[in-house]
Amino acid sequence: MISVVIPLYNESILVDRLLEAVTQNVRALNEPFEVVCVDDGSTDETLAKLLQFRKEVPEVKVISLSRNFGLQAAITVGLEYAKGGKVIIMDGDLQDPPELIPELLQKMEETNCDVVSAVRNKRMESFTKRFYIKVFHKIFASISEGNQVEQSGNFCLLNRKAVNSILAFSERNRYFPGIRNFIGFQHEFVVYDRADRVEGKAKMTTRKLFSLAADAIYSFSKWPIKACLYLGLLGVVVFLLAIVYTLVSKFTGLAPFGWSSTFLAISFFGSVQLTFLGLIGEYIFRIYKEVQRRPVYLVKQVFGDTENDHEVNSKINPTKRSDA
Ligand code: UDP
Ligand code: MG
Repeated sequence: MISVVIPLYNESILVDRLLEAVTQNVRALNEPFEVVCVDDGSTDETLAKLLQFRKEVPEVKVISLSRNFGLQAAITVGLEYAKGGKVIIMDGDLQDPPELIPELLQKMEETNCDVVSAVRNKRMESFTKRFYIKVFHKIFASISEGNQVEQSGNFCLLNRKAVNSILAFSERNRYFPGIRNFIGFQHEFVVYDRADRVEGKAKMTTRKLFSLAADAIYSFSKWPIKACLYLGLLGVVVFLLAIVYTLVSKFTGLAPFGWSSTFLAISFFGSVQLTFLGLIGEYIFRIYKEVQRRPVYLVKQVFGDTENDHEVNSKINPTKRSDA
């Protein structure tokens, strides 16, 4: 079976067009399929539209979350629910073209690989957004361990082995493209041109994108804390030189020296320490979030094989884990 996982947050204007295009492309493959739509706490008509579509196409499954948990959480729910041996993940704004689905499947068939990621060739979004994304991908690729793939987002095809491996990651700060590369296995690529979203505003606001970028960097790189260490070591060297200078001045009778050196030293070390405290705070905040072990998402209702019968069988949410 093929599962298509689509996270949706306030995408009501696009639901019909999206589901039509997706089901059309997947149905043409003549294999059993399901389209798992995760409604990430939409406040518009998204859920109603999804349920309406589901009346005609029962392969459409809908999971509605109790509130907006964010894109990464929505992807996690979809992966946990999906029953297919092959699972496709795509955005719900038609920026990930459904026509590419057959190509992704063909690539997996031909190369017998475990993951096929769609890599963006051209982007047709605003200049500033393209700029931010490019800078992030450059930084992330150069500082994260493992061969991070540039210019690939969430759009991809995973086989069951890859899905299960991704679900074995129980971290709360989830950055899906990072985890997907981290698992290894055989990873292939299909290149495509990324259009701008067909309609509506981006639901990943600039604030959400920046916070995702920070999560990605802190969870996949030791670089921030390493930079701290190096700057700290540099501070020690400066301090040692200052001792030599002080002693020489003292014994050659150059002392007392003025307040400027004292003042500069105090403000230099003060600001370095504050920066490091802030940086360590970022780690502590993330460690705290991990230790709390709060659920990554909460499900309000599942419209699955029959109405309301199917629970999301979660490996990641700790509440479920202790039940098991
Ligand atoms: N999305 C979501 N929850 C959120 C934000 C976004 O499920 O909190 C969904 C959104 O509906 C869309 C996909 O994630 O289907 C990608 O969002 P968007 O197009 O805003 O992101 P971008 O194209 O800027 O990466
Ligand atoms: Mg988009």
